[in-house]
Amino acid sequence: MTVLEGKVAVVTGANAGIGLAIARAYRAEGARLFAVGRRQAQLDEVETELGPGVTGVRCDVGRLEDLDRLYATVAEQAGHIDVLVANAGIGIAAPLGEITEEQFDAMFTTNVKGSLFTVQKALPLLSPGASIILTGSTAISRPQSNLPVYGATKAAIRNLARGFAHDAKTRQYRINVLSPGGTRTQGLQELVSPEELTAAGASVPLGRLAEPEEIAAAAVFLASDASSYVNGSELAVDGGFAQI
Ligand code: NDP
Repeated sequence: MTVLEGKVAVVTGANAGIGLAIARAYRAEGARLFAVGRRQAQLDEVETELGPGVTGVRCDVGRLEDLDRLYATVAEQAGHIDVLVANAGIGIAAPLGEITEEQFDAMFTTNVKGSLFTVQKALPLLSPGASIILTGSTAISRPQSNLPVYGATKAAIRNLARGFAHDAKTRQYRINVLSPGGTRTQGLQELVSPEELTAAGASVPLGRLAEPEEIAAAAVFLASDASSYVNGSELAVDGGFAQI
Protein backbone atom coordinates (compact mmCIF):
# COMPACT_ATOMS: atom_id res chain seq x y z
CA MET A 1 0.00 0.00 0.00
CA THR A 2 1.26 3.48 -0.81
CA VAL A 3 1.12 5.73 2.25
CA LEU A 4 0.78 9.12 0.51
CA GLU A 5 -1.89 8.13 -2.03
CA GLY A 6 -4.13 11.10 -2.76
CA LYS A 7 -1.99 13.56 -0.81
CA VAL A 8 -0.71 16.79 -2.35
CA ALA A 9 2.91 17.52 -1.48
CA VAL A 10 5.10 20.57 -2.06
CA VAL A 11 8.84 19.98 -1.75
CA THR A 12 11.32 22.83 -2.07
CA GLY A 13 14.84 22.13 -3.24
CA ALA A 14 13.40 19.14 -5.07
CA ASN A 15 15.63 19.17 -8.14
CA ALA A 16 18.81 17.92 -6.41
CA GLY A 17 20.18 16.03 -3.45
CA ILE A 18 17.98 15.29 -0.47
CA GLY A 19 14.95 17.12 -1.90
CA LEU A 20 15.11 15.08 -5.11
CA ALA A 21 15.27 11.86 -3.08
CA ILE A 22 12.22 13.04 -1.12
CA ALA A 23 10.41 13.89 -4.38
CA ARG A 24 11.14 10.39 -5.73
CA ALA A 25 10.01 8.74 -2.50
CA TYR A 26 6.80 10.79 -2.31
CA ARG A 27 5.94 9.92 -5.90
CA ALA A 28 6.62 6.25 -5.21
CA GLU A 29 4.17 6.54 -2.29
CA GLY A 30 1.50 8.01 -4.54
CA ALA A 31 1.64 11.74 -3.79
CA ARG A 32 0.71 14.47 -6.27
CA LEU A 33 3.89 16.54 -6.22
CA PHE A 34 4.97 20.13 -6.73
CA ALA A 35 8.76 20.18 -7.08
CA VAL A 36 10.37 23.53 -6.37
CA GLY A 37 13.79 24.89 -7.28
CA ARG A 38 15.47 27.70 -9.17
CA ARG A 39 17.12 25.86 -12.08
CA GLN A 40 14.49 25.25 -14.77
CA ALA A 41 16.51 22.61 -16.65
CA GLN A 42 16.75 20.46 -13.52
CA LEU A 43 13.05 20.92 -12.82
CA ASP A 44 12.29 19.77 -16.36
CA GLU A 45 14.38 16.64 -15.71
CA VAL A 46 12.43 15.93 -12.52
CA GLU A 47 9.13 16.25 -14.39
CA THR A 48 10.38 13.92 -17.13
CA GLU A 49 11.71 11.35 -14.66
CA LEU A 50 8.76 11.31 -12.29
CA GLY A 51 6.08 11.70 -14.94
CA PRO A 52 2.46 12.87 -14.70
CA GLY A 53 1.51 13.96 -11.22
CA VAL A 54 4.57 16.17 -10.90
CA THR A 55 4.69 19.89 -11.58
CA GLY A 56 8.04 21.64 -11.46
CA VAL A 57 7.77 25.23 -10.25
CA ARG A 58 10.61 27.67 -10.56
CA CYS A 59 10.80 29.66 -7.34
CA ASP A 60 13.49 31.27 -5.23
CA VAL A 61 12.24 30.69 -1.68
CA GLY A 62 13.95 33.87 -0.50
CA ARG A 63 11.67 35.96 -2.75
CA LEU A 64 8.13 36.47 -1.53
CA GLU A 65 6.75 37.22 -4.98
CA ASP A 66 8.12 33.85 -6.17
CA LEU A 67 6.37 32.10 -3.27
CA ASP A 68 3.12 33.87 -4.16
CA ARG A 69 3.46 32.54 -7.71
CA LEU A 70 4.26 29.03 -6.43
CA TYR A 71 1.16 28.85 -4.27
CA ALA A 72 -1.03 30.40 -6.97
CA THR A 73 0.04 27.48 -9.18
CA VAL A 74 -0.67 24.95 -6.42
CA ALA A 75 -4.07 26.54 -5.70
CA GLU A 76 -5.01 26.41 -9.35
CA GLN A 77 -3.81 22.86 -10.04
CA ALA A 78 -4.50 21.08 -6.73
CA GLY A 79 -6.46 23.43 -4.46
CA HIS A 80 -4.78 22.42 -1.21
CA ILE A 81 -1.58 21.08 0.40
CA ASP A 82 -1.33 18.00 2.64
CA VAL A 83 2.46 17.85 2.96
CA LEU A 84 4.90 20.75 2.83
CA VAL A 85 8.65 20.15 2.92
CA ALA A 86 10.74 23.33 3.27
CA ASN A 87 14.01 21.71 2.31
CA ALA A 88 15.73 24.32 0.12
CA GLY A 89 18.88 25.45 1.86
CA ILE A 90 22.44 26.52 1.27
CA GLY A 91 25.61 26.16 3.29
CA ILE A 92 28.72 28.25 2.87
CA ALA A 93 31.82 27.17 4.75
CA ALA A 94 33.52 30.16 6.38
CA PRO A 95 34.97 30.41 9.88
CA LEU A 96 34.24 33.37 12.16
CA GLY A 97 37.17 35.48 10.93
CA GLU A 98 36.27 35.11 7.26
CA ILE A 99 32.49 35.20 7.01
CA THR A 100 31.27 38.10 4.84
CA GLU A 101 28.05 40.08 5.04
CA GLU A 102 27.06 38.74 1.62
CA GLN A 103 27.51 35.12 2.76
CA PHE A 104 25.60 35.82 5.98
CA ASP A 105 22.71 37.39 4.06
CA ALA A 106 22.63 34.58 1.49
CA MET A 107 22.36 31.86 4.12
CA PHE A 108 19.83 33.67 6.30
CA THR A 109 17.73 34.65 3.28
CA THR A 110 17.42 31.15 1.83
CA ASN A 111 17.43 29.11 5.01
CA VAL A 112 15.56 31.21 7.56
CA LYS A 113 13.52 33.75 5.62
CA GLY A 114 12.88 31.11 2.96
CA SER A 115 11.65 28.48 5.43
CA LEU A 116 9.49 30.97 7.35
CA PHE A 117 7.69 32.37 4.32
CA THR A 118 7.46 29.00 2.58
CA VAL A 119 5.29 28.00 5.55
CA GLN A 120 3.50 31.30 6.11
CA LYS A 121 2.43 31.71 2.48
CA ALA A 122 1.18 28.09 2.41
CA LEU A 123 -1.14 28.50 5.40
CA PRO A 124 -4.32 29.32 3.44
CA LEU A 125 -3.85 26.14 1.39
CA LEU A 126 -3.04 23.67 4.18
CA SER A 127 -5.63 20.94 4.63
CA PRO A 128 -6.66 19.85 8.15
CA GLY A 129 -4.00 17.49 9.50
CA ALA A 130 -1.33 18.74 7.11
CA SER A 131 2.26 17.81 7.85
CA ILE A 132 5.00 20.43 7.57
CA ILE A 133 8.63 19.36 7.55
CA LEU A 134 11.54 21.78 7.82
CA THR A 135 15.02 20.56 7.00
CA GLY A 136 17.43 21.10 9.86
CA SER A 137 20.92 19.69 10.30
CA THR A 138 23.23 18.12 12.85
CA ALA A 139 24.73 21.63 12.92
CA ILE A 140 21.83 22.52 15.27
CA SER A 141 23.06 20.35 18.12
CA ARG A 142 26.68 19.98 17.04
CA PRO A 143 27.91 23.30 15.60
CA GLN A 144 31.16 23.28 13.66
CA SER A 145 33.88 25.91 13.47
CA ASN A 146 33.76 26.25 9.68
CA LEU A 147 29.97 26.50 9.58
CA PRO A 148 28.96 28.82 12.42
CA VAL A 149 26.45 30.90 10.46
CA TYR A 150 24.98 27.89 8.68
CA GLY A 151 24.52 26.30 12.11
CA ALA A 152 22.83 29.48 13.34
CA THR A 153 20.37 29.41 10.45
CA LYS A 154 19.48 25.79 11.18
CA ALA A 155 19.08 26.49 14.92
CA ALA A 156 16.74 29.33 13.93
CA ILE A 157 14.73 26.90 11.80
CA ARG A 158 14.49 24.52 14.75
CA ASN A 159 13.12 27.31 16.94
CA LEU A 160 10.72 28.50 14.26
CA ALA A 161 9.27 24.98 14.15
CA ARG A 162 8.95 24.84 17.93
CA GLY A 163 7.12 28.15 17.89
CA PHE A 164 4.86 27.18 15.00
CA ALA A 165 4.08 23.83 16.67
CA HIS A 166 2.09 25.69 19.35
CA ASP A 167 -0.42 26.66 16.65
CA ALA A 168 -1.11 23.03 15.77
CA LYS A 169 -4.52 22.99 17.48
CA THR A 170 -5.88 26.17 15.94
CA ARG A 171 -4.33 25.63 12.53
CA GLN A 172 -4.74 21.84 12.47
CA TYR A 173 -1.30 21.09 11.14
CA ARG A 174 1.74 19.47 12.66
CA ILE A 175 5.29 20.62 12.06
CA ASN A 176 8.59 18.88 12.61
CA VAL A 177 12.26 19.29 11.78
CA LEU A 178 14.12 16.56 9.93
CA SER A 179 17.84 16.86 10.67
CA PRO A 180 20.11 14.94 8.32
CA GLY A 181 23.70 14.15 9.11
CA GLY A 182 26.33 14.42 6.38
CA THR A 183 24.58 13.13 3.26
CA ARG A 184 26.10 12.34 -0.14
CA THR A 185 24.80 15.22 -2.27
CA GLN A 186 26.22 17.77 -4.69
CA GLY A 187 25.65 20.41 -2.02
CA LEU A 188 27.87 18.63 0.50
CA GLN A 189 30.53 17.86 -2.10
CA GLU A 190 30.76 21.56 -2.95
CA LEU A 191 31.05 22.44 0.74
CA VAL A 192 33.94 20.20 1.78
CA SER A 193 37.01 18.59 0.18
CA PRO A 194 37.08 14.86 -0.67
CA GLU A 195 39.45 14.33 2.28
CA GLU A 196 37.06 16.10 4.64
CA LEU A 197 34.21 14.01 3.23
CA THR A 198 36.05 10.79 4.05
CA ALA A 199 36.90 12.05 7.53
CA ALA A 200 33.29 13.13 8.07
CA GLY A 201 32.06 9.63 7.26
CA ALA A 202 34.61 8.06 9.59
CA SER A 203 33.51 10.33 12.47
CA VAL A 204 29.94 9.00 12.39
CA PRO A 205 29.15 6.13 14.79
CA LEU A 206 27.75 4.16 11.84
CA GLY A 207 31.06 4.78 10.03
CA ARG A 208 29.71 6.41 6.87
CA LEU A 209 27.75 9.29 5.41
CA ALA A 210 24.03 8.99 4.69
CA GLU A 211 22.55 8.35 1.26
CA PRO A 212 19.79 10.84 0.29
CA GLU A 213 17.30 7.96 0.17
CA GLU A 214 17.86 7.30 3.88
CA ILE A 215 16.79 10.87 4.67
CA ALA A 216 13.84 10.55 2.30
CA ALA A 217 12.59 7.47 4.16
CA ALA A 218 12.24 9.59 7.32
CA ALA A 219 10.52 12.32 5.28
CA VAL A 220 7.95 9.74 4.17
CA PHE A 221 7.31 8.80 7.81
CA LEU A 222 6.87 12.44 8.88
CA ALA A 223 4.55 13.09 5.93
CA SER A 224 2.40 10.03 6.51
CA ASP A 225 -0.38 9.32 8.96
CA ALA A 226 2.02 6.95 10.75
CA SER A 227 3.45 10.08 12.45
CA SER A 228 0.06 11.59 13.29
CA TYR A 229 1.03 12.35 16.93
CA VAL A 230 4.51 13.71 16.15
CA ASN A 231 4.58 17.51 16.46
CA GLY A 232 7.30 20.01 17.35
CA SER A 233 9.97 17.31 17.19
CA GLU A 234 13.39 17.14 15.66
CA LEU A 235 14.04 13.80 13.98
CA ALA A 236 17.76 13.21 13.51
CA VAL A 237 18.84 10.88 10.72
CA ASP A 238 22.57 11.12 11.25
CA GLY A 239 23.96 7.69 12.07
CA GLY A 240 24.26 8.81 15.69
CA PHE A 241 26.65 11.71 14.90
CA ALA A 242 24.97 14.37 17.02
CA GLN A 243 23.23 12.00 19.40
CA ILE A 244 25.95 10.39 21.52
P1 NDP B 1 21.92 20.50 -2.66
O1 NDP B 1 22.81 21.69 -2.81
O2 NDP B 1 22.36 19.21 -3.25
O3 NDP B 1 20.49 20.87 -3.18
C1 NDP B 1 19.90 22.06 -2.75
C2 NDP B 1 18.52 22.19 -3.33
O4 NDP B 1 17.93 23.39 -2.84
C3 NDP B 1 18.53 22.26 -4.83
O5 NDP B 1 17.38 21.64 -5.32
C4 NDP B 1 18.46 23.75 -5.09
O6 NDP B 1 17.90 23.97 -6.36
C5 NDP B 1 17.57 24.22 -3.95
N1 NDP B 1 17.71 25.62 -3.56
C6 NDP B 1 18.80 26.22 -3.03
N2 NDP B 1 18.55 27.51 -2.79
C7 NDP B 1 17.26 27.73 -3.18
C8 NDP B 1 16.41 28.86 -3.20
N3 NDP B 1 16.83 30.07 -2.77
N4 NDP B 1 15.15 28.71 -3.65
C9 NDP B 1 14.71 27.50 -4.09
N5 NDP B 1 15.47 26.40 -4.11
C10 NDP B 1 16.72 26.52 -3.67
O7 NDP B 1 21.68 20.38 -1.09
P2 NDP B 1 21.37 19.11 -0.17
O8 NDP B 1 20.43 18.21 -0.84
O9 NDP B 1 22.65 18.60 0.34
O10 NDP B 1 20.65 19.84 1.05
C11 NDP B 1 19.25 19.94 1.14
C12 NDP B 1 18.89 20.47 2.51
O11 NDP B 1 19.44 19.59 3.49
C13 NDP B 1 19.47 21.84 2.83
O12 NDP B 1 18.55 22.56 3.61
C14 NDP B 1 20.71 21.52 3.63
O13 NDP B 1 21.07 22.57 4.49
C15 NDP B 1 20.23 20.31 4.41
N6 NDP B 1 21.28 19.45 4.91
C16 NDP B 1 22.12 18.80 4.06
C17 NDP B 1 23.10 17.96 4.56
C18 NDP B 1 24.07 17.23 3.68
O14 NDP B 1 25.06 16.66 4.19
N7 NDP B 1 23.86 17.16 2.37
C19 NDP B 1 23.25 17.73 6.01
C20 NDP B 1 22.29 18.46 6.81
C21 NDP B 1 21.35 19.27 6.26
P3 NDP B 1 18.29 25.24 -7.28
O15 NDP B 1 19.77 25.37 -7.22
O16 NDP B 1 17.73 24.91 -8.60
O17 NDP B 1 17.62 26.38 -6.66
